[in-house]
Amino acid sequence: MKKIRNFVIIAHIDHGKSTLADRFLELTHAVEKRKMQEQYLDQMELERERGITIKMQPVTMAYSVDGESYTLNLIDTPGHVDFSYEVSRSLAAVEGAILLVDATKGIQAQTVAHLTTAIEQKLKIIPVINKIDLPQSEPDVAEEEILNLLLSLDYDIGDVHRISAKTGEGIKELLDDVVRQVPAPEQKTEAPLRALIFDSMYDDYQGVISHVRIVEGKIKPGDDIFFMASKEKSESKEVGIFSPQRIQKDGLQAGDIGYIVGGIKDIELAGIGDTITLANNKSESSIPGYRQPQAVVFSTIFTKEDSNYEDLRDALEKLKLSDAALYFEPESSPVLGRGFKTGFLGMLHMEIILERMRREYGLELVVTSPSVAYNVAMKSGETITVFTPSQYPDPSIIEGAQEPWVFLRIIVQPEYMNNVMNLLKTIRGLYKDTEYIGSDRIRINYEAPLADIISDFYDNLKNTTSGYGSMSYEITGYRPVDIVKLDILLAGEPVAALARMVPKDYAEKEGRKLAEKIKNVLPAEQFAVAIQAAVGGKIVARETRSAMRKDVTAGLYGGDYTRKRKQLEKQKKGKKRLKEQGKVDLDTDTLMKIFQ
Ligand code: GDP
Ligand code: MG
Repeated sequence: MKKIRNFVIIAHIDHGKSTLADRFLELTHAVEKRKMQEQYLDQMELERERGITIKMQPVTMAYSVDGESYTLNLIDTPGHVDFSYEVSRSLAAVEGAILLVDATKGIQAQTVAHLTTAIEQKLKIIPVINKIDLPQSEPDVAEEEILNLLLSLDYDIGDVHRISAKTGEGIKELLDDVVRQVPAPEQKTEAPLRALIFDSMYDDYQGVISHVRIVEGKIKPGDDIFFMASKEKSESKEVGIFSPQRIQKDGLQAGDIGYIVGGIKDIELAGIGDTITLANNKSESSIPGYRQPQAVVFSTIFTKEDSNYEDLRDALEKLKLSDAALYFEPESSPVLGRGFKTGFLGMLHMEIILERMRREYGLELVVTSPSVAYNVAMKSGETITVFTPSQYPDPSIIEGAQEPWVFLRIIVQPEYMNNVMNLLKTIRGLYKDTEYIGSDRIRINYEAPLADIISDFYDNLKNTTSGYGSMSYEITGYRPVDIVKLDILLAGEPVAALARMVPKDYAEKEGRKLAEKIKNVLPAEQFAVAIQAAVGGKIVARETRSAMRKDVTAGLYGGDYTRKRKQLEKQKKGKKRLKEQGKVDLDTDTLMKIFQ
């Protein structure tokens, strides 16, 4: 029987997961030296540019310990809170987790969040302290924090590894220990097939490519397969493993992590969390699936040109094939035209999706202010969910509205406690308590409306804690709120994309804050722009973005007066036209700057 070990690397963002994966790939010769590049598993262009992992990536490696050969299946995971859903899915496919902690930062919010889920899933945890090569690293402090955290979660503590994913120190010892400590998967190869789909991607020719953990049984190309949740029958066209590129194999069996091409074109029929079994030898029960991820931020997306509407639909459908968390449905607005109401897991998720639409699909977009979902009870007895200001019902027909609240945990060094408390005073919410985790780290527990932490709260937290503070949150329920619509007018004209729903008591403050922000990020126009915020027709704030005279004659040499005059006249006409239209052109970049 094949000796297999399946494990993930979990950590807060930037603690070195992808770099550690690089060292494993080198050590096991999984990637040729000349092809090796930093954070090798971050293959998406956007991931490489931003230096973050967005999608989990499995890879199979061959490795020998104590004279025995092993097949190692590693899954590298994203660390950002928006992508926790990816992490939780990968955990269901493995038996062990390397918990990586940066020795210069110690335990941060996502460390705790991911570890908690890994322990719930009964995974073997291998705690590791990374970046010990850095002079400012404090491995002893980090170790104490890790041990305290494991204790608080009732997990048996053992040795903590100390490594440098950069220099390679301690890497071999770590991988050897993974092999010795992570339990082998069960390998009931004779049972009927049960393959858990933990991820998927889409290929224009092959259709859906399901990433699977074979829990029981075996599969080979040509087998008749059955998707237990969708009840779809099909045939296995190809099976294989990740190296991390796809490599075809003759078969996969219990314990393996790999992929199955099932000839399915409709992603809904081969959904993430579904179980694949054999059509003529069905398993009795499917593997428990995944909780559908909850979109928390909503925005309506339009194309600049209405004629590109179908391209937008096409892009969203394609993106959804590799991103199950993306939610959208058609919506039209009298001002902005036809678009899609779109749900995201957070602001980073939104930014990434918009950027991919621009890059991979060449779409020029207009997006509306991101919003949480409000539950609005109508006097008629009906309850509706509203994400978009234009759909917020007239106050006279509303009984009451509710908004989502979260339990917020902020982890930081005690010296920043005051700064964090001051920051928390700027949002609505309720202080709960503060706990010590380790001797130099506290966790502040707070309850707050989701709406108040989705935009710039995280950035402000980073700023006020010299980058040390981190946070995680979960939605706990809905509470009443009195909502009004805040309109933004540029050059006297309401800009539909900038309207937002705000709590009544905060409308004026929000209006002022927003007007000032817009003033600072608005691209220099050729004419002065009045920026106004209004509630129910009443102006609550006003700013002016002064004109910047673009020197249109700069490119012209010497005394060519005729051309110079022509250029200046053209500019004058342009200004007049813009003024008449009262239109200020906002690109996606500017809109995102305003929203964040
Ligand atoms: P991830 O977000 O957890 O995947 O983290 P990455 O692997 O992308 O690493 C984040 C940053 O930390 C990168 O700039 C890495 O080069 C750096 N890094 C990772 N491990 C080490 C280490 O052991 N020592 C040092 N000095 N830097 C490291
Ligand atoms: Mg990474």
